[in-house]
Amino acid sequence: MVVARSVAELRRLVAGWRAAGERVGLVPTMGALHAGHLALVAAAQAHSRRVVVSIFVNPKQFGPREDFSSYPRPEADDLAKLGRAGADLAYIPAVGEIYPAGFATTITVGGPSDGLCGAHRPGHFDGVATVVAKLLIQAAPDAAFFGEKDYQQLMVVRRMTQDLNLPVEIVGVPTVREADGLALSSRNVYLSAEERRLAPDLNRVMRETVSAIARGAAPAPTLQRAIATLNERGLVVEYLELRDAATLAPLADTPTRAARLLAAVHLGRTRLIDNLPVVPT
Ligand code: AMP
Repeated sequence: MVVARSVAELRRLVAGWRAAGERVGLVPTMGALHAGHLALVAAAQAHSRRVVVSIFVNPKQFGPREDFSSYPRPEADDLAKLGRAGADLAYIPAVGEIYPAGFATTITVGGPSDGLCGAHRPGHFDGVATVVAKLLIQAAPDAAFFGEKDYQQLMVVRRMTQDLNLPVEIVGVPTVREADGLALSSRNVYLSAEERRLAPDLNRVMRETVSAIARGAAPAPTLQRAIATLNERGLVVEYLELRDAATLAPLADTPTRAARLLAAVHLGRTRLIDNLPVVPT
């Protein structure tokens, strides 16, 4: 596996593959790789002859009181995992390569950015959209792979690539979970043993909520009960909401089209997010 640290090197390598007629898939990550990221790599390999994995802890998507400086950066381990997974290229730019002095452009996506994490992390999706647009323009892949774990992010990226006519297919990959239902996340390392024991309650309560709503329970009181249950168990709810699965528009009534239940909770100093499909019966 090759490591590229500059846009020029990335472009030279990808141009060579494209000239040989090979499809290129991009997997954008912030590193601290786990089986969820490797599922994206596997999906990319099933789709594209060549797979580029970017590792970039993007300062623009962190709020001033968030964990940018403490975010895990185990580069040697990440490279070993990508090598074993058979990725072709790790693209690991320094912050100055992505945001050189004088950088002054921000991409703001409306629609799916509204509410949920967009309301609680001001500027977060501007940071995500700006860096993803840059990575897509730099790597010029045929397809890019994003986890459903960050469902709102996936919808924001889809909206942006459509709106800007970026010539790339955006592929969503199902969430990889621990056996107890907890979605894998690089931030799970922040959980204490006691918090790790409590964390799967988020997914458990969400699954119960989804089946109640799918059986016809009224969404508003069902969500209120779920929020109360989570709060009682020490998972402090930031939001738990039912949204249209495609547009992320809020849904008040029992869904008649594909919907999504999305949540963020705080457990100690760790913020956990999760989401599940709600299929109308
Ligand atoms: P991150 O490094 O957290 O920015 O994530 C990079 C990509 O991996 C994003 O597209 C995430 O949605 C995806 N991802 C993170 N965790 C998981 C997971 N548990 N299952 C599937 N995809 C994931």
